[in-house]
Amino acid sequence: MRTLILIGHGSHLNPDSGVAVYEYADLIRKTGLFDEVLEGYWKEEPSLRQVLRCAKYTDVTVIPMFISEGYFTENVIPREMGLGHQGPVPKEGIVRQIGGRTVRYTLPYGVHPSMSELIVARAHEACADISSQDTGLFIIGHGTTRNKNSSRVVFENRDRIREMGVFGQVEVFFLDQEPKISGWQDVFKTPKVVMIPFFTAEGWHTQETIPEDLGLEGQVTIFPQHTAFYGMPVGTHPKITEVIAHVAEEAHGLGANGDGGDLEPEQKKTWNEVLERARAGFRIGEIQITPIAGLFEMRPILDVGRDDLEKLATPEGVRHKVRRDDSGTYRPVHTLRNLPRGWVALLGEQDLARAIHYLYPAVVEEAFAFEKGEQHVTPWASSAGRQTGIYGLVQQANEEEVAEMVRKTCSSCLKTPLWHGQTLEKTFFQGVPGGIPCPKRVPSWWPSCAMWWVNGSSARNRKRQQRIDLLEPFELKKGAPHGAPFLLEMLYGFRLIPLSATLRTPLHNQNRTFSYPLRWKYPLILYGYFRNLY
Ligand code: SF4
Repeated sequence: MRTLILIGHGSHLNPDSGVAVYEYADLIRKTGLFDEVLEGYWKEEPSLRQVLRCAKYTDVTVIPMFISEGYFTENVIPREMGLGHQGPVPKEGIVRQIGGRTVRYTLPYGVHPSMSELIVARAHEACADISSQDTGLFIIGHGTTRNKNSSRVVFENRDRIREMGVFGQVEVFFLDQEPKISGWQDVFKTPKVVMIPFFTAEGWHTQETIPEDLGLEGQVTIFPQHTAFYGMPVGTHPKITEVIAHVAEEAHGLGANGDGGDLEPEQKKTWNEVLERARAGFRIGEIQITPIAGLFEMRPILDVGRDDLEKLATPEGVRHKVRRDDSGTYRPVHTLRNLPRGWVALLGEQDLARAIHYLYPAVVEEAFAFEKGEQHVTPWASSAGRQTGIYGLVQQANEEEVAEMVRKTCSSCLKTPLWHGQTLEKTFFQGVPGGIPCPKRVPSWWPSCAMWWVNGSSARNRKRQQRIDLLEPFELKKGAPHGAPFLLEMLYGFRLIPLSATLRTPLHNQNRTFSYPLRWKYPLILYGYFRNLY
């Protein structure tokens, strides 16, 4: 009996970020290769720290759903999952005994040799007429100067594909390291060039920055010396599930006997308790569970008694439904009191457990451990100390600022923030539906909220916050940025009014150029002149 955990980055801002991992998990579930398939995330729930506890079996394979090795696969994931490892992961992976489970941590799926075949397959889709005489392959990698391993896999694919002899020329270029993609035209001698992004999914880079940087006009672009064919990212090829299965199978052989594990005893006890209560009718969070003819009906408590509800029949249906609230806004924190209404699900015993897991990831496991006095509480300082990059700002928060954050954010959440010293008398296991412990701040929401709040609170960042407040409406409304320089002029009285201004945007932390129509320039100059005159 084996559990497979697919690890994605996830996002607390973008609801689509984690979807690819969900979809791969669904496909692998259908193959029956594993008895259980779970998903875990860095910026969504269940978090990397929670997901191992949710595994039903004692033999667990963990695959990072990344295209190359790097900081996340070598540092963040091993650290957060308690693997006791930092740095490059050996080819054969890492095996650890953690809390009675055998955990096999593999290399990311993107480094598997069979990825080369998928790159070639993507190239054939993009250009029907490939020949070794006149067609070159241009593999586009992201690259980074911070981790050499990140680009190694792209070069390995280049070398393997060169050996296949399918293309007249195979070259690699990167967005963020040398050789940069801008130099491709000088290097390719073949009249036809097929460009394949070595990326996990479609997104900002594959749809915007790459086409823009390369001057592409669509799937086919005619340049003076070349005809370029732009293909889809390799990570979205349907055969990726086969690659994941290969990686998993190879990791399976890492163990001493490879026969798989047993039902994990704590998991068994936890879910037996849940099922026992569900058979008698049970409330957890904002959900009512009612037994009906050997099945379980699940619906929002506020919808009890209604019969005009949307009917769901699978845990995936429930997952999809609860990913956004009634207004369509993404819900990265599942225990916020904004569960969408108007639905009812009818599920079997196994599916009920999965649906509860999607509704409230890791909540059952943590509440059961809390009941037994075995739930470890991680204080704020420890969680904040692990944040890096832009989220490292949360480390600046003082006690009052954190308390204010708790008042502002946790008050709309079902969970009780034990990590902030609050106490919880009873959980839903004892009949209090909203009795849910929060032993550590959840990664999905806290970093960003805390970051904004810290920015706005500390005196030395107050100026920056004013600028954020000023620009935020323009960031959120498409087409509105024309007004940003105008407003800057009004507020700050610039004498020289540029036609455009490049500013670092707070929401995306990137440079964006704001501009306004030329016809505004002259009235603004006059306005600036009189303003400064008087
Ligand atoms: S940190 Fe606060 S908002 Fe986040 S899950 Fe815990 S209690 Fe809820």
